[in-house]
Amino acid sequence: MECVICLEDIKNDELVALKCAHMFHIDCVIMLIQKRTRKCPICRERITYVKKQLVKHKKLSRHIK
Ligand SMILES: [Zn+2]
Ligand SMILES: [Zn+2]
Repeated sequence: MECVICLEDIKNDELVALKCAHMFHIDCVIMLIQKRTRKCPICRERITYVKKQLVKHKKLSRHIK
């Protein structure tokens, strides 16, 4: 599986799925959020699911409150 943001392979422990079911690196999604680009880069659906789903990941919970 490839992350379209950075074009690198995604390993299971760094994978995150958005509401639209597209998958990216946790770090890449954090980067999008920090840039205030809250849309999926593939289908442009709003990243509304991030908070709920990603709060499990310590890395993300530092960025999302
Ligand atoms: Zn990536
Ligand atoms: Zn998508």
